[in-house]
Amino acid sequence: AESKAKAEPITLDVAVVMVPLPAQGHLNQFLHLSSLLSARGLPIHYVGSATHNRQVLDRASRLHNGGTACRPIHFHDFTLPDYSSPAPEPDAAIKFPGHLQPAFDAARHLLSPLADLVRSLASRSRRVVLIHDSSMTFAAGAAASLPNVEAFCFHTVSAIAGFFFRWELRGKPREPAVEILELPHVSNEDCISQQFCDFVLSQQQTTVADSGRLINSCRAIEGMFIDLVAREPEWQDKKTFAIGPLNPITFNQASGNGARHPSIEWLDQQPPSSVIYVSFGTTSTFSDEQVAELAAGLEASGQRFLWVLRDADRADIYAETGGDAVEKEKLPLDYYTRVERRGKVVRGWAPQPEILAHPSTGGFMSHCGWNSCMESFSAGVPIVAWPMHSDQPRNAVLVTDVLRVGFHVLDWDKRAELVASATISDVIERLMASKEGEEVRRRARELGGEVRRAMEEGGSSKTDLDAFVTHIII
Ligand code: UDP
Repeated sequence: AESKAKAEPITLDVAVVMVPLPAQGHLNQFLHLSSLLSARGLPIHYVGSATHNRQVLDRASRLHNGGTACRPIHFHDFTLPDYSSPAPEPDAAIKFPGHLQPAFDAARHLLSPLADLVRSLASRSRRVVLIHDSSMTFAAGAAASLPNVEAFCFHTVSAIAGFFFRWELRGKPREPAVEILELPHVSNEDCISQQFCDFVLSQQQTTVADSGRLINSCRAIEGMFIDLVAREPEWQDKKTFAIGPLNPITFNQASGNGARHPSIEWLDQQPPSSVIYVSFGTTSTFSDEQVAELAAGLEASGQRFLWVLRDADRADIYAETGGDAVEKEKLPLDYYTRVERRGKVVRGWAPQPEILAHPSTGGFMSHCGWNSCMESFSAGVPIVAWPMHSDQPRNAVLVTDVLRVGFHVLDWDKRAELVASATISDVIERLMASKEGEEVRRRARELGGEVRRAMEEGGSSKTDLDAFVTHIII
């Protein structure tokens, strides 16, 4: 159906404007949604700072086939006031990384140039649809008082995390569905800073301007929570479209021909499902002590591993160098010699969706960022959950306690500033080399099939996406 849509582009007088939150996971999701809508013939305007636009494009193009899908998208580089990000705190564990907040605050200055763009498009188009991140609700203001402009909120975090976050803010009203669940308790205070909570709250009132919302998730992953969010008081009269997971794996773009990243070449040499992939996303930096424990834990596990060792992203470094920050040397050189036959350490950016889709990958030790979870679910790969902040602890509950496709490194109420190497090696062995782990891996494979089917013709997400496209073009 996708290639048919490409062959016969619908040329309509509709323009779509995308407003992501400037953080890698969110930028990616907006890029994927842009590619999908663009493949349906819709003109896409992607809005952000020059640095963030460059970051998302560079990184997409480093993924096999990833760059090609971006070509038709029109990127608008807007200038934001200078801001400086404090260096990420080493060991950001159990704290929301404050170094991201200046970029989020600066992004609010997009409103004025965004409003100009939307006005200009609205004067030339029959209809404009503005899609903003659920943490960029102020952007809906650019649609206000323009009769042919409609705003939609794109929920870039899981339904489970969004639901529990807002449910707690609403004072935990009686909700039988929640009581039945009896899930491990994670409180807002435990996973986000007051500053970030204020940032989100300051935007709540503008959700009234939205016509509906999109959720980057699917019924196979969290149908129960999608139903719960659809019933939320502020949204129950509006349409909710669950259109995910949007990623190169469900788009069949996570493999291909051409230059292969060294990590993929290394995976090619390993037995099927034998490698645990270890990566913690783009917002956290481990302390040197934690890196040493992790290195020792991976070594002691006796399992094959592919470890992406990098610090948190810093927009200022990206702006200066056009590349990833170069990390200081954190591992003693003899470590590489000792583990060389069964371990590979990647420094800098790795093609994660390709790694997860590779047949040699059998497990993922992850911080449980929402993209990482969805990529792992899509590839049918089980997870060792090591959440740190924001939506991650609730995503980890989804992985381990709801879907049962992974194990916690440590239960959230036993989380520690330093996770010992023995804990790390035990949980890796439990996943990769135990009877119990086999069950979890089997469930993850089944979930992978269901998730990929959701995005195919007749699947729940494809059906919702088609309904959304129909809604915006009519
Ligand atoms: N990612 C990647 N290579 C890396 C690190 C991250 O491709 O070396 C991608 C990963 O596939 C995911 C995104 O960056 O799509 C990270 O988003 P996520 O929501 O998992 O975590 P965040 O970085 O927002 O905490």
